[in-house]
Amino acid sequence: MDAIAAVQVLSEIGYLLRQNPKEVYRARAFSAAAWTLALERPNLDALFKDNKLTSIDGVGEGIAKVLAGLIESGQSTYLERLRAETGQPAREDESVIDLGAYQGDLHSHTDWSDGRATMLEMARGAKALGYKYLGVTDHSPRIKVVNGLDSERLLAQSREREQVEKEVEGLALLQGIEVDILEDGALDLPDAVLELLDVVVASPHVKLRQESSAMTERMLRAVSNPNVDVIGHPTGRRPGSREGASYDFERVFREAARNGVALEIDCDPARMDLSPEHARLALELGCTFALDADAHAPAEFAYVPMGAWMARRAGIPMDRILNFKPLEALTMIAK
Ligand SMILES: [Zn+2]
Ligand SMILES: [Zn+2]
Repeated sequence: MDAIAAVQVLSEIGYLLRQNPKEVYRARAFSAAAWTLALERPNLDALFKDNKLTSIDGVGEGIAKVLAGLIESGQSTYLERLRAETGQPAREDESVIDLGAYQGDLHSHTDWSDGRATMLEMARGAKALGYKYLGVTDHSPRIKVVNGLDSERLLAQSREREQVEKEVEGLALLQGIEVDILEDGALDLPDAVLELLDVVVASPHVKLRQESSAMTERMLRAVSNPNVDVIGHPTGRRPGSREGASYDFERVFREAARNGVALEIDCDPARMDLSPEHARLALELGCTFALDADAHAPAEFAYVPMGAWMARRAGIPMDRILNFKPLEALTMIAK
């Protein structure tokens, strides 16, 4: 049993458990075990044979049992049961996602805003995973609590980016921003600044419970801005703790597809936003996707294998996901 396949099963279990408020702790335990597996990639078959699955950090008897079943049969009856209970059974048309072909992450944070690592540490972490590029997308100024970047600090950051790029050979650092989508759909930085950046992730962070028609107009305006490349965590939800924005998804996704704006599958286990259902709708409407960790520390890059199941379940082919494209094929990069 490939550790990354097991990561996705444990992670999906964590996701499905999160839909039940009573299961939040168990959900977190499954997500945490998935994260450990994603980071350490242990030899599961050998551990199973020696009856040592519980030696993996965060794997107690319950999770070990799920893993054992998975290793023995290639399937998890527990996952199948949860899928059935939550009305999300397996489908015939799942896609195949080869994470070995993952080229780079488009959404990450550094200690310039609320990240917990320096740009150099993040770059080294990405390089260690074989990434060819990393989008450095710290927060925009409105988010004061996280020390969001205004144009002046962005300029200063771009100088550091040049330095780090020299130090970490073979990794392209994309100068970007996670720009806040304001209540009226305007963005939290002027177009003159955004158009200079390689990658603009526009995300809703506050006032997520706006009335649906206002939220629809807000999102439509954001996806219509020609400088926006990706909509970050499109609803802002946190399953089990915060309901996300509700809007006319069909209209917004259709407009995103028309404008070539990608929708993000944010692989942070606390977000997992989109949902498989919304991802499938977006796929049918012609959208492209970004499969990002939204990492705030190098270890969080391992969220990508934890979120990949969602793209697979939604049937999204790899050629519709930006992160599988080589750097030269990322057309949004400022020339
Ligand atoms: Zn965000
Ligand atoms: Zn972010």
